[in-house]
Amino acid sequence: MADRLALPGFVNAHSHAFQRALRGKVEGADFWAWREAMLDLARGLTPGEVRTEYAAAYGEMRAAGYTAVGEFHYVGLAEARAAVEAAAAAGVELVLLHAAYARGGLERFRQESVGEYFAQVESLREAGGRVGLAPHSVRACPRDWLEEIGRYAERDGLVLHVHADEQPREIEECLAEHGLRPLELLAETGCLGPRTTVVHATHADERELDLLAEAGARVCLCPTTEANLGDGFPPLVGLLERGIPLCIGSDSNVRIDPLEELRELEGIARRQTLRRNVIPVADLLAAGAASGAAAVGIDEWPAIEVDLGHPSLRGVAPSETHAALVHGCGADVLTPSRDG
Ligand SMILES: [Zn+2]
Repeated sequence: MADRLALPGFVNAHSHAFQRALRGKVEGADFWAWREAMLDLARGLTPGEVRTEYAAAYGEMRAAGYTAVGEFHYVGLAEARAAVEAAAAAGVELVLLHAAYARGGLERFRQESVGEYFAQVESLREAGGRVGLAPHSVRACPRDWLEEIGRYAERDGLVLHVHADEQPREIEECLAEHGLRPLELLAETGCLGPRTTVVHATHADERELDLLAEAGARVCLCPTTEANLGDGFPPLVGLLERGIPLCIGSDSNVRIDPLEELRELEGIARRQTLRRNVIPVADLLAAGAASGAAAVGIDEWPAIEVDLGHPSLRGVAPSETHAALVHGCGADVLTPSRDG
């Protein structure tokens, strides 16, 4: 159809849907104050609220062009089931990245043992949901949990997602406890492989980037959240030089717009290199779609359409539509595909 351009749906490889409710709050305070507000919100969450609030957030994602979501979930088992229902109601493909949480955070995040964690994963899988393993971070999981989770992922061919190297403090604590940086520990414990997605990797050093490349692991970048939280810039040059696959996530959901995430990525890369066209448009679009699908372990997800009659695309030549989309449009130019 002449007024529409079909595209693969965007894949949001890293979401914490409940954090959508935090937008506008604690903007005047630092990361740790934000985290306290996040914990307060998580503390009171009920399955009923998850069902309602997540359906609303996933509905916004669907409208913004995300048709599949990896929900990195650490707020309870009943709530995980509610998240699956919410996604079905909103019409997005969901992969529930069920978090293992041994220590820290809130009591409701934690399992008593790694055996209890696997029992939760099994019950979600038996209910028919698509599930991935998600040791929350090297802060939240000790070495023996990481080893067992790495083995389980390998044995069952499941994707494994983990936060790492988001804040310098996490690296200092990991060095103090293990004498290793977070990605070194993940490599040693069998948690870095071709089905692994490391979320953030903001402060990864050269050695850690080498480990990612050797493992064939992927990195999920969440530029609007990383900017909002003051995490830092991702080591884009090092990631790109090594050919490490990238995907995107809306993470805290302070913004829900895949085009903005991609534009931010390229904007950061341009500022870091003093060049333009660092990540070609086709590669950016692939990071936003197929690479995210690979990260969450799905082969099929709904397509979307670009409204070529939208004012943001007025006067754009057909050959330049993709570039204009990434560099000059918001998600309001995207709509669900009329073919379903
Ligand atoms: Zn996260």
